This record gives sequence, C-alpha cells and structure tokens, in this order.
Amino acid sequence: MLKGKNALVTGSTSGIGLGIAEKLANEGINLVINGLGDAKEIEVIRASLASKYGVTVLYDPADMTQPDQIECMMKKAMTQLGGVDILVNNAGIQHVAPVEEFPASKWDAIIAINLSSAFHTTRMAVSYMKSKGWGRIINVASAHALVASPFKSAYVASKHGILGFTKTIALEVATKGVTVNAICPGYVLTALVERQIPDTAKVRGMTIEQVKQEVLLAAQPTKQFVTVEQVASCALFLCSDAAASITGTHISIDGGWSAH
Ligand code: NAD
Repeated sequence: MLKGKNALVTGSTSGIGLGIAEKLANEGINLVINGLGDAKEIEVIRASLASKYGVTVLYDPADMTQPDQIECMMKKAMTQLGGVDILVNNAGIQHVAPVEEFPASKWDAIIAINLSSAFHTTRMAVSYMKSKGWGRIINVASAHALVASPFKSAYVASKHGILGFTKTIALEVATKGVTVNAICPGYVLTALVERQIPDTAKVRGMTIEQVKQEVLLAAQPTKQFVTVEQVASCALFLCSDAAASITGTHISIDGGWSAH
C-alpha cells in the first residue's frame, strides 16, 4: 500500500530524520532527503539509500530558515518525483541558556527551523494530498511539546507551537484522507542531544555524566534513552491504513516522561 509513494523528510541527513527516511525507503517509498552536512557524506547517504532499497532518492539542501529555499525544494519534489504523499517535518535544533542570556538570533533560528519550516512545507504539500485523497503529515515534535524544562525557552515554545499547528491542519484536511499528527519523543541519543550536554552542564554546574543521569534520564521513568528505531517505527505506523483514523493528535514515545 505504501510502495511507490513519495515522502519528503526534512532534516534527514542524521539522527531521527535519517532513521525515518530509511524506514520509509524499506517500504519502497521514494524519498526527498534534506539537511545540512558535508556534501560528500550526504551523497554517500543518498546513494546508499537508493541502492539498498531500490527507490528514487533525491537530496535537496534547502535551509529550513529560508522560506524561498523551502519553496524550491517542494517544487522540486513535485516536478522530479510527481508529488509528496508523506511529509515528515523533522528538522530541528536546540539551544540551552537562561532567557536573559538567550541570543535573539538563536530564538529566531529555532522558531524558523522547528516551527515555521513546517508551515512552509505543509502549505505547499496539502493541495496535492487533497487532490489524491490520501496523505500523511508527521511532525516530529518532542516531549517538550507537552511539558517544559528550564533554559529551553525557544525549543519548548517551538514544540508547543508545532503541536497546535498539527491539530489545526488536521481539522482543515480531515475529510480529504489526509492525517496530520505529531510524534513526541523523549531523549534520543542523537547529535542534537549530544551537543546540548556540555551547555546544560555549564548552566547547571554539573559534570557530563551528571547531566546524562540527573537531567536527561531523570525525566524518563524507564531510565533508558528512546531509540531512533522506535521513533521511525511509529512514523511508519502513522503512514499505514491502520492509522487512518488517527489525526490531530500526538503519540508520546518518552519512557513515561509526560506521565509525571
Ligand atoms: P540531529 O541533529 O541528529 O538532526 C537534525 C537534522 O536537522 C539534521 O539532518 C540537520 O542537518 C537538520 N537541520 C538542522 N538545521 C537545519 C536547517 N537550517 N535546514 C535544514 N536542515 C537542518 O537531531 P535529532 O535528534 O535527530 O532531531 C530531529 C528532530 O527530533 C528535531 O526536530 C528534534 O527537535 C526532535 N527531537 C529530538 C529528540 C532527541 O532527544 N534527540 C527528542 C525529541 C524531539
């Protein structure tokens, strides 16, 4: 049922986005991957996904802070793949600092990448999905779409925002065979989390190991990091027919964090 469909996954050159892209490719879904990084390394990722799974894989380097580049990427997906059936808004960044020290440029970048980019991809994707009578929009939010942590004002605001956006668009397309949902992972040990550990250690006056145990895993009752595979499997489930009545909501994969 999913074989031959086309998916676009933002921020899929590493971490959760790459895991979701691979999971979809494994179903025979063609891909547009996107994200930052070394051009040669990204070409290796693109080519290996295409050859391993026998699907078409395009790479687009659109910077998610730039609406005109996002528009070009969406147009490329239309012209070169024929359309986007599955849109995964995954690109995201983090910055950890007390609000009075939070750089305004970091606030703007986080809101642009984690929230506004999903508006720009979605507004360009829904007409095609509605015309087909089938579509899936999956927004990779976070446990921080539901609960807050100190020193993450922009991230928490962006993730609460994407959940509101998810619900709104779900209502707009509900009769058209298009579902819109958010996945809310707890901590997954990707580059995004690895990068924030030193800053968190500095702000809280802790060691790296203390941050892992007393800040990150303290939030998760299971005391285990969530895995990329678990998040990617959830995304694939949301694409299935079995999930056709799941829309306008979120699925938490957070080891019990948001049950607190
Ligand atoms: P990651 O750093 O491994 O991946 C982020 C991806 O976004 C990369 O491909 C990167 O190149 C891309 N990206 C960053 N800035 C970009 C820009 N300006 N334009 C285009 N692409 C850009 O991090 P990750 O942990 O895999 O994060 C993916 C998503 O999952 C994010 O939205 C993040 O908020 C969310 N998330 C992560 C965790 C976690 O613990 N890792 C938990 C909850 C939610």
